Amino acid sequence: MNAGALLRASGLPQREARVLLAHVLGVPRERLIARPDTIVPDDSAGWFDALSRRRQEGEPLPYLIGEQEFYGRRFAITRDVLIPRPDTETLVDVTLRCLGGSKSPRMLELGTGSGCIAVTLKLERPDAELTATDLSLAALAVARTNTEAWAAAVELQHGNWFAAVEAAEPFDLVLSNPPYVAVGDPHLETLGHEPPLALSDGADGLRCLSEIIAGAGAHLKPRAWLVLEHGYDQAAAVGELMLNAGFSDVEVERDAAGRERVTRGRIRGVARPTDQR
Ligand code: GLN
Repeated sequence: MNAGALLRASGLPQREARVLLAHVLGVPRERLIARPDTIVPDDSAGWFDALSRRRQEGEPLPYLIGEQEFYGRRFAITRDVLIPRPDTETLVDVTLRCLGGSKSPRMLELGTGSGCIAVTLKLERPDAELTATDLSLAALAVARTNTEAWAAAVELQHGNWFAAVEAAEPFDLVLSNPPYVAVGDPHLETLGHEPPLALSDGADGLRCLSEIIAGAGAHLKPRAWLVLEHGYDQAAAVGELMLNAGFSDVEVERDAAGRERVTRGRIRGVARPTDQR
C-alpha cells in the first residue's frame, strides 16, 4: 500500500498517523506529506497498524515512538519517565531568568526523570554546573541516554530529594518539577500510562513540594534561588511554605496556558565575607 492510503485508513488524526508512520519507516515526517505515493513494505504496514491500534486505545503518542520534544529539542523517553510537557518550559524560563548574568552557576535539579530539564539548562547555559537526581534508577538510565545524546555534561545522582547530594557543597539554584497531583485527583485517571511515582505524592499534592522547600535551605548559598513547578491551584500554598521556610522575593509565574505554574524565591541570609568578593 502507499503511505497516503495507509495514513487515511488508520482512522487517526492525520498528524498523529504521520508521526507514527515516519517513526516506523525511519524517515522525516515531511517526507510523507511531500511523497504520499511512497510505497510502504508489508512488514512496516503491519507494525504501523499495530501502533495505530494502540494509539486508538489511548496510549500516548510519545511512548509509542519513544521520544518527545521539549524546548525545541527531541528527547528519548520510556514509560519509566513522565512525558515532558510544554507547561514545564516555564520552569526552564524562570530558572534562566533567576540565573541572569551570574558566572558559572551551580545548579541542582531534583527528580529529573527523562533529564529534559537539566539537559536543556546545560545547553542554554553551557557555563553552568548541573547536578540532577532521581529516586528511580530506570529514570536515571533514560536521563543518561539524553545527556549523552546531547553531549550535555550533567552529573546524575541516585537518591530521594536532597539525600542524593552533599550538604557541604551548596548551590546557586535548586529546581524541581516534583509529583504534585493529589491522590484521588480525577485527572490521574487520564494519565494512567505514566509512572505514578512521577505524578502523585500519594497524599494531598503538597507533600513532596513541602519536603523540598524544607530541605532546600541547607543546600543553598545565601540569597540563592529555589524554583518549583506546581499544580494550577497550589501557588498560594507553595508561596506560604516558602515564606515560612525563610525565602524572600517569592513570585509566581504563569505557564503558556495562563495557569499559575511556577513559584520561585531566594533564601534569606547575608553573604559570608568570602562570598562578597
Ligand atoms: N503537570 C502534570 C499534569 O498535571 C503533572 C506533573 C507533575 O506532577 N509534576 O499532567
